[in-house]
This record gives sequence, C-alpha cells and structure tokens, in this order.
Amino acid sequence: MAGRIRDEDIATVRERAAIDDVVSAYVTLRGAGGGSQKGLCPFHDEKTPSFTVTPARQYFHCFGCGQGGDVFTFLQQIEGLSFVEAAEKLAARFGVELRYTEGGPRSGGDHGQRQRLVEANRLAQQFYAAQLAESAEAVPGRQFLAERGFDRDVADRFGVGFAPRSGEALLRHLRGRDVRDDDLVAAGLVGRSSRGLYDRFRGRLLWPIRELSGEVVGFGARRLFDDDRIDAKYLNTAESPLYKKSHLLYGVDLARREIARAGQAVVVEGYTDVMACHLAGVPTAVATCGTAFGADHVRVLRRLLLDHDEFRGEVIFTFDGDEAGQRAALKAFDGDQQFVAQTYVAVEPGGMDPCDLRLQHGDAAVRELVASRVPLYRFVLRNVVDRYDLERADGRIDAVRAAASLVASVRDRSKVDAFARELAGMVGVDPDDVRGAVRHASRQRQPARRPAVGDRNAQVVQGEALPPDTPSVGDPRFTDEREALKAVVQHPQLVPDPPGLDATDFHHPLLQAVWTAVAAAPLPRGAEAGWFDGVRERAGDATASVLSRLAVEPLRTAGEPDARLVAALLARLQELTAARRIEEIKSRLQRTNPVEQASDYNRMFGELVALEQHRRQLRERAIGSIG
Ligand SMILES: [Zn+2]
Repeated sequence: MAGRIRDEDIATVRERAAIDDVVSAYVTLRGAGGGSQKGLCPFHDEKTPSFTVTPARQYFHCFGCGQGGDVFTFLQQIEGLSFVEAAEKLAARFGVELRYTEGGPRSGGDHGQRQRLVEANRLAQQFYAAQLAESAEAVPGRQFLAERGFDRDVADRFGVGFAPRSGEALLRHLRGRDVRDDDLVAAGLVGRSSRGLYDRFRGRLLWPIRELSGEVVGFGARRLFDDDRIDAKYLNTAESPLYKKSHLLYGVDLARREIARAGQAVVVEGYTDVMACHLAGVPTAVATCGTAFGADHVRVLRRLLLDHDEFRGEVIFTFDGDEAGQRAALKAFDGDQQFVAQTYVAVEPGGMDPCDLRLQHGDAAVRELVASRVPLYRFVLRNVVDRYDLERADGRIDAVRAAASLVASVRDRSKVDAFARELAGMVGVDPDDVRGAVRHASRQRQPARRPAVGDRNAQVVQGEALPPDTPSVGDPRFTDEREALKAVVQHPQLVPDPPGLDATDFHHPLLQAVWTAVAAAPLPRGAEAGWFDGVRERAGDATASVLSRLAVEPLRTAGEPDARLVAALLARLQELTAARRIEEIKSRLQRTNPVEQASDYNRMFGELVALEQHRRQLRERAIGSIG
C-alpha cells in the first residue's frame, strides 16, 4: 500500500511554496493592488485578466470560471496531477523532504511517477551533455554545432547533448543511478522490443525540451550519421505522461520572462534558430517541438504575453518564404481571429532561417529580420494578390475577388474596412469596389441570420451565467455578507471571540454554508496554517469556488484591515439582521389592536424598543470603519 505523506510535511511545503512563484511559471502576473496579482486564466479562455493570486493567503481564484484553491490545487489542475504528485513536485522544487506514514517514499503504485520521470529526464540530459563535451564519438555533433556558430559554452547554456551510438549507454547509466526500467520506458528514453530494452536516441544530437518551469520533459534529436537506421532528420520524444507536444515550445523556459516584459514572442522553426535568436539579441524566440503551431501553443503564448483588451502582445512568425510558410500563413487566417490580429510575419527574402542568417550576416541581421515584420493579414493578402497580373483590368478584378473572400472571413467587423482599404491600395482599385466585393463574399460565406425577437434577452440571461433559481454569490444584495466572510476567512485572528454572528445572518445558501463551517471550530488566535483547510473540508465541495473567491478577493477597504474593521463588518451584518427583525415587528404591530390585544402589543413594543437600541449600538460599531 502506498504511504501517505505526513501532514506536517504537507504544511511545510505549503509554507515554502510561494503560490505566485509557482503560478508565474505558467501565467504572467501583474500587480493588481491590495497585494493581489492578476493574469489570464489558464483554465478558461479570456481576454481580460480575472485570474487572481493572493500571495499573502497562498490562494488563487478565477473570477471568470470560478476555479480556485491553493498551490496544490493549482498544480494538480494545470498539470493533471494527483495530490501526491503535486506535493512531491513542490517538495522537490522547494527543498522539502517528504516523509510517508507507512513505507518509504517509493512505496509502490504510480506514486510520484511524474517526479520520477522528471528525474530520469534530468539525469539523461546531464549524461547526454557530458557525452557531447567529452566523447570521441560525438565529434560530428560538435562539428555540427561549430559549423553553425555555436561553441562549447553555447552548447552548455542550451543543454545540448549527444546520444552514444551503442544503443544501451543511457540505459546502463540510468540503471546505475537506480532509475527503474519501467520509468525509462514511460519517459520515452528507452524502448522495449522482443530482444529487450534499447536507447531510443542513438548517434544523434539532442536538445532538451523543457517546460515553463525549466524541467526537462523530453528531447528533440537530430540525425548526424548516414547509417542512422531512422531516416527522419528530427526525432522527438513520443507523447508521454510528461511530454505533450501540442503545448510544448522549445526555449520557452529561457524566453518566458522576456516575452512577458517585451510583450512579444518570436516563433521560429528549429532548435538552432532558437539558439541563434537568443544569441543575437532576440531572447523572445521559441519553436514548436515536432508539430505545427496550434491552438494550445496560442494559449501558452497568450498567457505569457498577458493579452487583454487594452494590450495585445505581438507574435512574430519567421517564415523562410517558401510554400510551407505561405500555407501556414493562409491557414492562420482561418483560425483564431483575435490571434490573427496580433500576428506578424518576418520573411527573409533570401530564404534563410535565423541560424543561417546569423552565420552569414551576423547578429544584427537577425534582429533586423524580426524588426522587419509585417502584419500577417498583409502578408497573406500580398501573396494572394501577387498571383494575378495587375497590369490587366480582369487580373485586378480577379485579385480583388480572391482576396475579398479572405477579408470576408474576418469576424472582427471593425477590422474589415481597414483590410478592404489596404487591399484596394495593393491592387490599385477604388476602395468602394473592394468593399462591394467583400460584402458579396460575406453573403456567400454565411446565409444572413437576423436575430429573432427575444434574442437580446436570451443573451443577457446567458451573459450572467446564472441558474434561474439560485442568485449569484456576487449579487450586490449579498455584498455585506461577502465582505464579512472575506474578513473572517482572510483575517480569522482578527475576528472577535465570540464573533456574535450566526447562520441566520447569511441569506445566500453557499455563504451560509461557509459561515457554518467557520463557526464549527474555534477561530485561530495566531498564524494557524491548517485552519482554512479545516473550513474548506467542513464546508464541502459545493462551496469550493466561493471559498477561494472569498480568500482572494480584496476587501473593499483602503489600507491593512485591523480588528476594528473586522468587527465593524460583522456588526454591519448583525445590524442588517436587526433591521429586518424591526421591520417584521413593526408590520405585526400595525396588524395588532393595541386595546384588544394589549399584552401582545406591549410585548412586541418592548421588543421593538430593545431591538432599536441594539441596532443603534451595532450601527455605531459598523460606521466609521466602513467607507
Ligand atoms: Zn478562469
């Protein structure tokens, strides 16, 4: 049976693993005031950042999709890990040694498999790099790099390595380091055939492929020898629990900070192009790893660029101007429109890739290539238009017709007119003619759809994403309840004891459940890490998203909250409850005859007087501290 990690070790990991540190490996965060940081949510597509991290409370919450939790939840969700795997990964990174309640850390099952695969890849990378530096066999590999202007220091910096030709060198080396055979196979480092295990990469130059966090998850391998049994110029690690090629970008671990800082990412085609760009002063370069640039890559870059409505980063593709590049560009036009609008193309007229360019014309030429970018749409329109003879009137008409259907495919109507004008300039015709052609092409693309009566209302309801019966926790009428609970969850040590509230002070079922969970155990009087976990457990899964929101959303108050403010927020809720009770009694008094039902009337009147006095006291506590 697998051992369970000791609670105190989990607590230590939680203490040391700064959530902003962990999250910012995946999402670019910017300060958002109140000690919070914001970025684009990695769990849903959004244009405006609503993904919020609050380092002081070690919590994250997305106000768009409701995902939220602590540093463990984040890692579990973004990497698809179990709790144990997430804990092991964080422990390794933050130097916490985990102890297990029964058996050792390697006590069976797939316990910590991910961590073991990461370790196997790390050891493999070191082994390959040493081979490249030292082994006689690796001469062709060193030559390959030298011919492209990369010396030993550069090879070191990028972790380039060489896989020996024998077919078992890595296997033997890692067995000697106590790596299990099963893990070597699972990591894609070793293959299994009827004759036994063999190294997957043999006699090739290897580039380690890393995740955003810098962990090696696989390799890209280039053919060096004519007698290589595999023809493919490049081989990549097969899909594995670690290696997901659809979102991996070579160089992203080195480039991510620059991408965020410069608001620019350069996508090149090969590993050597990434190296050449970084050396030439384009530190935002990345490349896909054995697959075309796709939607997952877009999402990764967007999060790093911190795209939002006011700011759009630039993504620059370097194409060598050949057929493939043009086809890729055309395809891009059909994809994510928002992305198209921020996509640029840098084409080297001589057909050189950045690596060749740097070799022949130096670092400055690479920087100039990137600087010479043109918007993707212009590049594509130019390619289409260039296929026609613009000297002839019918050639111009055909060019406009062909390009107009592309322009018509643009969903952002505000851009269509600008594209149409540009197209008119390219072809040399009247802009109105082009607009007419675009309108004609739009009608052919999609049969006109007029919104039916009532559509507008349907949209409004959808936009609020509310189930019809339960009001949203964010509804303004629950503002006071939310503020009070935020204060309790974020600053439990400031809550007066007893707090003076009960569940009837809350009118939203989820907020009520949270309060019940809070009230079920004593409030912490100092820093007590486990307190919040206890609340979360007692409150149940239904409140998970509400709870993380309460933990992360800043209080609506300026400055650091103190005991007085927290007391005021709680008093405000009690005051509201008292006010409701007062209204009830007043209404009943009106329906009671003071003569015929004198004793009832007098009792209620007495209660009313007491309640109003109580309410005034609460009011005094509540005002002053709340703006
Ligand atoms: Zn989200």
